[in-house]
Amino acid sequence: MKYIGAHVSAQGGVENAPINAHSIGAKAFALFTKNQRQWMAPALTQRSIDAFRSACEQYGYEPQYILPHDSYLINLGHPETEGLDKSRQSFIGEMQRCEALGLTRLNFHPGSHLRTIDIDTCLARIAESINIALEHTRGVTAVIENTAGQGSNVGYDFAHLAAIIDRIDDKSRVGVCIDTCHAFAAGYDLSTDEGYHRTWDEFDRIIGFEYLRGMHLNDTKKGVGSRVDRHESLGQGILGIRCFQLMMQDPRFDNIPLILETPNEDLWEEEIKLLYSMTK
Ligand SMILES: [Zn+2]
Ligand SMILES: [Zn+2]
Repeated sequence: MKYIGAHVSAQGGVENAPINAHSIGAKAFALFTKNQRQWMAPALTQRSIDAFRSACEQYGYEPQYILPHDSYLINLGHPETEGLDKSRQSFIGEMQRCEALGLTRLNFHPGSHLRTIDIDTCLARIAESINIALEHTRGVTAVIENTAGQGSNVGYDFAHLAAIIDRIDDKSRVGVCIDTCHAFAAGYDLSTDEGYHRTWDEFDRIIGFEYLRGMHLNDTKKGVGSRVDRHESLGQGILGIRCFQLMMQDPRFDNIPLILETPNEDLWEEEIKLLYSMTK
């Protein structure tokens, strides 16, 4: 079964996210558990935690179909001690918020070398950061997202994600989320049938579907290999609709959160309907 949803607003409190998800017909959702542009946030109140849990129960959202996303400020591969420490502290805080909400996965972008250290050193730092966070928390899986490779972001090559996973002590609590827009921008041509099959064969060989914990479903404004991260509504971009038709018929994407991060939220309800129509 496919669990399709969107990255919905948690404005006014995390407890609003499941309500917003339900209102667009989502069976899965993503959210920020705090302001994504701030380092630290006040702890979640018990009242908010209880309201979140009861809304999830009311609308039938189980933890494995909820994919919280961390702050954009965090760089777990930061080349400098101060930035790295701050990122690690903030990331542990994000994981603890997930734990408090009863959530089991946290999605994040791996990090950036800031043109100061090489890619391998950066990947090793990211792995160390994840190991530290896993040591300090329980029950939450670290879900590394592939990137478009914009700027000095690492994680655009499936081999980067595999190199991080290799260094994780507790492999039962690490996974990946693949963003279709990021993969396309990074050079994986998901727009054709042949490219689709080649990309997922490569993914399975290098990372393995057993690590797939979620997907971000986005069309893209920029060309294949552009290394530019610009999402587009489904079917309105260069990636096109074929990739999503294939995915909706592909059982390898069953039973994980499939999350829209497309730019026009007024279309989410329609996009979810369209995707479900493709599963038939
Ligand atoms: Zn994404
Ligand atoms: Zn993106």
